[in-house]
Amino acid sequence: MTYENVKIHPAVDSGVKPGLSNFAGGTLECKCASDKVQVRVEGQTAHNHVCGCTKCWKPQGAIFSQVAVVGRDKVTVTANAHKLSIVNAAAPIQRHACTGCGVHMYGRIENESHPFYGLDFVHTELSQQAGWSPAEFAAFVSSVIESGVEPSRMEGIRGRLTELGLQPYDALSPPLMDAIATHIAKASGALPA
Ligand SMILES: [Zn+2]
Ligand SMILES: [Zn+2]
Repeated sequence: MTYENVKIHPAVDSGVKPGLSNFAGGTLECKCASDKVQVRVEGQTAHNHVCGCTKCWKPQGAIFSQVAVVGRDKVTVTANAHKLSIVNAAAPIQRHACTGCGVHMYGRIENESHPFYGLDFVHTELSQQAGWSPAEFAAFVSSVIESGVEPSRMEGIRGRLTELGLQPYDALSPPLMDAIATHIAKASGALPA
């Protein structure tokens, strides 16, 4: 390990842990000391990844977030829903954040023509349960510079991501970029719907 002193995110810094194949889901909790917002996620997540964009919620000191998707019908706020507020209602992904601690509890797409409509974005590290699908790749890696990371650190950051088995991409992974392009092509008629 050449880059093990480069910190990415607490959930992956000591190695990416495998998920459980029969995992049934769990409960996400915000970081308030009391009256925590709780969100029940019924079932396993998919496409978990670390993300360098400036929009995703990151734990204190981390330069990447870790974020996965799950069907919106699997996500239910089960406690203290009144503490939630949408960070930016105009953004394609509406991030529902706790007004007490700032943690994003889930991100939801309300535009039915969006390629990822039907999927919610969740941070499974907010759950006590183990067995969630592991991070598979790193998205929007170059964007960490927009958060203030020195460009000279990028070689080490990409090196560490590669070492962890998290292939670094400066957009989403090829399967997700292909899914977006296919959605657009079917909407425009370039491909049969
Ligand atoms: Zn909170
Ligand atoms: Zn992001």
